[in-house]
Order: sequence, then structure tokens, then C-alpha cells
Amino acid sequence: MKVLVINAGSSSIKYQLYDMPDRRVLAKGRVERIGDDQSELFHTCGDETVTRKEPVADHERAMELILDILTDPQAGAVTELAEIATVGHRVVHGGEEFTGSMIVNDQVLASVERFVDLAPLHNPHNLVGIRAAQAKLPDATQVACFDTAFHTTLPEVAYMYALPFELYERFRVRRYGFHGTSHRYVARRAATLTGIDKYQSNTITCHLGNGCSIAAVQNGRSVDTSMGFTPLEGLVMGTRTGDFDPAILFYLADKGYDLTALNTLCNKKSGLLGLSGASNDMRTLEKLAAEGNSRAELAIEVFCYRVRKYLGSYFAVLNELHAIVLTGGIGENCPLVRKLICQNLSQMGIELDIGVNEKAIGQEIAITTPDSKVAVLVIPTNEEQAIAGDAFELAAQVAKSP
Ligand code: ADP
Repeated sequence: MKVLVINAGSSSIKYQLYDMPDRRVLAKGRVERIGDDQSELFHTCGDETVTRKEPVADHERAMELILDILTDPQAGAVTELAEIATVGHRVVHGGEEFTGSMIVNDQVLASVERFVDLAPLHNPHNLVGIRAAQAKLPDATQVACFDTAFHTTLPEVAYMYALPFELYERFRVRRYGFHGTSHRYVARRAATLTGIDKYQSNTITCHLGNGCSIAAVQNGRSVDTSMGFTPLEGLVMGTRTGDFDPAILFYLADKGYDLTALNTLCNKKSGLLGLSGASNDMRTLEKLAAEGNSRAELAIEVFCYRVRKYLGSYFAVLNELHAIVLTGGIGENCPLVRKLICQNLSQMGIELDIGVNEKAIGQEIAITTPDSKVAVLVIPTNEEQAIAGDAFELAAQVAKSP
């Protein structure tokens, strides 16, 4: 079965076509700068990469381009669209309702629409992606995979804020958590790599990319995570603050900052970018720090210190810890950050293998010594494969049911 995975953002659609159940990627690519007259399509099939520049007015047109290139006699991966039986969509917010991936029907669509209120920057684009795929592939089974679903197992004690309870009752103000598909994928891989049953495995999974979050996974289920009501809470990120004293907002409001300015400040101008004043990109900061830029060095140190604080607190949350996973662009590729996070953690049973850590780039590998009580694993995340897996399983169930 061919499964198309769609990740629709505000101005881009990323896609991967899988042959399932083999999990073979047949083609992948992205349309960028949708709505611009300089839109671009990048498409890779086998060793060939095709780039097309043309105005793409909206997501529907982008979807048309993607399906055109997937069926292109030269660059394509299928002969006809009917071969694509299933489409898996990344959807950011599933509220408290969706504890797993769902086949899209009118009710599911209505709920995703309702959760626009909770994720106004993401769910609208995810919805547009689903509708465009429905329009272009009316016979395919559409599946929605929610970033929040993996964290719906958080206990009340972890998801409740110490705000007036009525805010939860009236507005569902609580911690939801995000990056769930990534945390689930790497936690399962960690269980496989450590030879522990996935429902008995305890891991702390650190997704360190542009957005960063960490999760405590007990017996294969998420029991705590650092992102909260929105992705702003928790770790220091490329441009987001992570945890900070919300009273700073009242103070700045007094100084004349309005709501929009505060929102931009916290989500777009803070984190690594805000601290360094130079970049949100860890590669750039590493280079600047090596050249003696003290602000870049500070940004890296604050970033790693925050991760260490969360590791300590999740160590306390879990009754036993089998593995820590580092993933995302930074976790997979940055030995310096991994060293700063993991050094001097022998009280947690962690003995970093400095030599292995230095060489581990973008591959599945343990960066701790063989006698380390807790393994630290670098595991490249693969949210697309996880979405393709869910979509395939749900579509197969539909096919079987009378
Ligand atoms: P996104 O959250 O947008 O998917 P990624 O997971 O791709 O982001 O992570 C982006 C981050 O990973 C950036 O800060 C980038 O600098 C960092 N990164 C990627 N490759 C490396 C590398 N070789 N060394 C250090 N940092 C890296």
C-alpha cells in the first residue's frame, strides 16, 4: 500500500510517499513559500532531485503540484493517483479528545476545527492540507495524526496548572504537550535498542530541534512533558523562551509592550536567538562560540543547563530509568550540546563515552560506555514514518472491516 504523508504548515507543505508495510520511502519533497510568486517545489525520487519555481497561490494548488510530480513519468513514483490509497496528515492539536491517530470523517474534522482555538498557528494549515488532499484524492483514506495524542496519558498531577480550577473547566487550560509523534517514535526505538518490552520501558526523550521538548515515558506512556498549553513552555528553543516568570509579562506590559509585541517577543525573539543576539541556529552559535563570542557561549550554556534541570526532574518522576534519548537536529548532530548535557551525571548512572559522542552524527547509537547504568541513545527521529505506520494500520483495519 502506498501511503502519502503530509505535513502542512503556514507557507509550506512537506510530503513523503511510503511503500507500506516495508516503510520504504519512494519519494519526498516540499513546496515552500506558498502564496508567494517565488514558490518552490523540491522533489526527490531515488537519486534524482527536481526543483520547480512557479507561483503557488494556495495549499490546494501546492497539493496539485505534489500529486503532479508524484505521477510524473520521469520524476514520479507512481503511475496513477489511484495507487495512493492512504494519506496520513500531521495535525498539531487534538485537544483532550484524540488519544491516537484517527480516520478523518466529518466529526474528526469538526473537532480539529474546534481546536483551532487552542492552536491558531497550526491547526488551520493542517485543516487546509486535509481538505486539499480530500479534494484531490477523494477515494483515499485520510488519517489525522496528532502531536498531542501521545501525551494524553499524562496524569492530572502533571497536566494541571496551579491556576483557578475553573479555567480548566471553562477553557480547558492545561498542559497538552507537543512533538508527541517524535517522542513516541524514539521511545519505541529506545525500547527496541535496549531490548526492553515497549510497555515496560522507561525513558526520558529529548527532542532538540528548532522547537525543543522533553518527555518522561513510563511503561511506554508519556507521563510528563515540558511543552504545555502551547509549545512555549519548557526548554530553551531556537526563538522561544521556554520557562520563565510570567510576571515579566506584566512588568513589560507596564512598560508599554502590547499583547502582540509580547507574543512576538516570547515566541520569535527569545531563546537562543534572544540570548545570543546573533542566531537561532545551533551550528552558527557553535561556530561563534568557538571564535570567542561570549553571548553565543552563554546561549549554548543556558540551553544545556535547562535540559539538565529537566533531566533531573524527570529522573525524580520515573521510578526507574532505562535510557535517555537525544533526537531532533541538535540532539542528532551536535556532540558539544550532548556533552554539556550529559557530563557529570554519574549520580544518575550516566557515563558518557566522549569519543563515541564526538563521532556520532545522525545515526542510532549509544553514546554512553557499556557499563553506564543508564544508556544515552542518539536516535534520529522519524515522525513521517510513524505517521505512515499509523495511517497504514488504520487503513488496513478499514479494508478488513465488512
Ligand atoms: P525543526 O524543529 O525545524 O524540525 P530540526 O530538528 O531540523 O528543526 O533542528 C534544527 C536545529 O538543529 C538547528 O538549531 C540546527 O542548527 C541544529 N543542527 C542541525 N545540524 C547540526 C549540526 N551538525 N551541529 C549542530 N547543530 C545542528
